Amino acid sequence: MKKIFVVMALFIAAISLITCKPMQKKITKPASTVSQNAVDNVIKELSSKYTETPKLRIERGVQQVASLWMKSDGSEKDFETFCQQNFTASEQSLDSLFQKLQTNFEVLYGNFNKIGMDLRRGLDIDLGPVQPIDEMFGAYSVGAHLTDDFYANKIAFVVALNFPFYSLNEKNDLGPTWSRKQWAYARMGDIFTSRVPAEIQQNASAAYTKADSYISEYNIFMGNLVDKNGKTFFPADMKLISHWGLRDELKSHYADKDGGLEKQKMVYEVMKHIIAQDIPETVINNREVQWDPYENKVYKDKKAVEAKPEPDTRYKMLLNNFLAQKAMDPYNPAYPTFMQRSFELGMEIPMVEVEKLFINLCSSPEVKEVAALISKRLGRPLQPFDIWYDGFKARGGISEEELTKITQGRYPDPMAFQKDMPNLLEKLGFTKEKAAFIASKIVVDPARGSGHAAGAAMKSDVAHLRTRVVAKGMNYKGYNIAVHEFGHNVEQTLSLQDVDYYMLNGVPTTAFTEALAFIFQKRDLELLGKTDKDPNKAHLMALDNFWMSYEIMGVSLVDMKVWKWMYANPTAKPEQLKAAVIAAAKEVWNQFYAPVFGSKDEPILGIYSHMIDNPLYLSSYPVGHLIDFQVEQQISSKKFAPEVIRMYTLGRLTPEVWMKQAVGAPVAIEPLLKATDAALKIVH
Ligand SMILES: [Zn+2]
Repeated sequence: MKKIFVVMALFIAAISLITCKPMQKKITKPASTVSQNAVDNVIKELSSKYTETPKLRIERGVQQVASLWMKSDGSEKDFETFCQQNFTASEQSLDSLFQKLQTNFEVLYGNFNKIGMDLRRGLDIDLGPVQPIDEMFGAYSVGAHLTDDFYANKIAFVVALNFPFYSLNEKNDLGPTWSRKQWAYARMGDIFTSRVPAEIQQNASAAYTKADSYISEYNIFMGNLVDKNGKTFFPADMKLISHWGLRDELKSHYADKDGGLEKQKMVYEVMKHIIAQDIPETVINNREVQWDPYENKVYKDKKAVEAKPEPDTRYKMLLNNFLAQKAMDPYNPAYPTFMQRSFELGMEIPMVEVEKLFINLCSSPEVKEVAALISKRLGRPLQPFDIWYDGFKARGGISEEELTKITQGRYPDPMAFQKDMPNLLEKLGFTKEKAAFIASKIVVDPARGSGHAAGAAMKSDVAHLRTRVVAKGMNYKGYNIAVHEFGHNVEQTLSLQDVDYYMLNGVPTTAFTEALAFIFQKRDLELLGKTDKDPNKAHLMALDNFWMSYEIMGVSLVDMKVWKWMYANPTAKPEQLKAAVIAAAKEVWNQFYAPVFGSKDEPILGIYSHMIDNPLYLSSYPVGHLIDFQVEQQISSKKFAPEVIRMYTLGRLTPEVWMKQAVGAPVAIEPLLKATDAALKIVH
């Protein structure tokens, strides 16, 4: 999930730079050195010279160049001359300019991407131990100066002048009637739209890195947790990161009928102290002391010792991220808050709409019914941490051992998987020709980690499927992940090779590529020639998806409330932010969870680490679940391969327009609710 964030951060850094404003507004960008008077003059001159050209295009283009123009770019006179010389009036010459830009951006992005991938081979591919030089090349970004260079040589201004930027609302309102070419022009207009000074960008990335290392070093030594009698409950060497490790440990005890509940309660005690920051600082990442989280007492060599609480560091990290992001606001007049940049620019769905979706699901009558079912299955009243109940998993009819036998036989090495790809695609219904073409654009490499998929960024390049194959051949877990990554590669290939304009290549956001990856992964047994025997599988999956969405939507609502609060209180101190986060967590709990769980004022929704180190990214997960669900429903109601091809060659429209064209409706909760209702009638 870190990878996804990095991709999004790069995307925001590269494309987020949106500054065109409606022409009526005066220039407010602090760094701009062009007066409104000069802007008006140029617009007047160009409009009277090119009477056939839509005035809107002239106004927007000139205004946009002005908002990006700095002292170092030239005088006001230079600005005027630049606009006069570079405005492209006729449709025909605009088209020829577009084709040249599009071709050259493919050359640049495609080769930069390939160079980056090739320089990371030492890190990504299993070629022996990683050397420091591999890390150094891995951290090098060959395209890092592209934006600066293009302002310096003025290509950025040519793009901004001739391809107007459209806001998300405009894209959603006008987009359905646009031709494909108009969409491609609009995406061209997204490239150069703001110019955040390097120093401010660096500050933001430093704050992010600091928060990231704070979280990645936040471990709890579980074997050192004791109750008031000094009894331990967890293995001596168990070290868990907050909150993922703690949460997964808690989840793993649903299957453990003997003492599992006691362990889960202890994990939740730990979480509460992290949220409240009264956790003794000395117990973080330290195996030298024992800690009784119920009494909040620290012991060393069985003797109680004094311990200071953590000094609100958690909230200081969040505050630093907020301040660093807020410093970029003046350079983004079209989306002047980080909330807008995260949602309207990153996710391309406005925050109010995301909130509405989440509130509607969290207050749906299905919540009570599913909660009652979980309580019945657990044989006890619900506890707050049952937001992580994970008992809706289908028990497959075939053992993992048996499956591993098949996959090891079939895939002794990565080459065997490579050779089998056309066959796998044909099994899914792709024609022989299409299967051969897609497979020819994917190269399988032995991965160092569990595996990943990396797409190409130019048609002449190939996508890479990195998979882990152990000495004995591919085990079932590795195969299952490889099929997921293969789904990514198929998306990456279709949405690059078969999309009509390079400027439209790709999918709207990462959620859309994840959807296809999961759709492939779910068919992994079918691809092995096995059928799943659990008749309830689809129903269990719907319930699992519903409960997961309910949990993460609540957490996301807290995240959004916190950001609104920070914007309303920009001079807050860490302890005030702490109080605000806890208040937001309890407020969301009391509104959507307390009526179902019984207990009030639980702070559990404030534990997510993403809230601290990955600002406002949380909402992408539940929106992704919904998209996944809708795309899967559409594909399973139609012929698989043709439907996949139709949807994944729509390209990078906005999510709303993509969804309407792909599944006939925008992102919605209703399909999931309907499936949940059906499942509730069957699953007991
Ligand atoms: Zn994935």
